[in-house]
Amino acid sequence: MSLADIKSRIAQAEAAVDRIGQTHLIAVSKIQPNERVEAVLNDGHRSFGENRVQEAAGKWPAFRETYSGIELHLLGPLQTNKARQAMELFDVIHTLDRPKLAGKVATLKDELGKCPDLFIQINTGEEPQKAGIPPGEADAFINHCKELGLPIIGLMCIPPVDEEAALHFALLAKIAARNGLDNLSMGMSADFEKAITFGATHIRVGSAIFGERVYEDA
Ligand SMILES: *Cc1c(COP(=O)(O)O)cnc(C)c1O
Repeated sequence: MSLADIKSRIAQAEAAVDRIGQTHLIAVSKIQPNERVEAVLNDGHRSFGENRVQEAAGKWPAFRETYSGIELHLLGPLQTNKARQAMELFDVIHTLDRPKLAGKVATLKDELGKCPDLFIQINTGEEPQKAGIPPGEADAFINHCKELGLPIIGLMCIPPVDEEAALHFALLAKIAARNGLDNLSMGMSADFEKAITFGATHIRVGSAIFGERVYEDA
């Protein structure tokens, strides 16, 4: 599906809830070959998402030399020992998910004199294998991050694969609203229209733009 097709689907979903132009499309380029990423860059798109610091560091500095205005989003779990590199490379981090990382980012913010915009990841499905703050601890963690002086702009979630995503989108929106946070990072290729209906401001769309990811075995 082309970028233009995705944009028209976004516009339709926005129009249905009277939120035209309110959604930020992040093209998730992890694993994708450089030719596919270049095609989307040449179409004029500038906002991209990656899951791994290492992979992003290997490909985006070169793209940034050729294309101006690139905005890079980190969407995968962040190890504390990669926080510095991530804060230097990314414009937005969507996966602030534990107190230890919050403390590290706060220290580095002072050291570097800058900090990416931050989303707090909420584990809305309370899945043991998934990262994120449990919904019951969200308010306290959000306050803790604000006290640390971190630039928290919103909340992010990845709903469980086997559950109705709408319930999770609605829960995330509710937690954000009661904490005065304006941005919601939710919705992927399979459900971005539904996410827009529930107030997504940032949707993360990979395979629907680039095609299926081909994981080569080592
Ligand atoms: C890979 C990934 C996406 C994009 O998934 P698609 O189904 O390809 O759209 C979005 N968000 C996160 C956190 C991801 O890891």
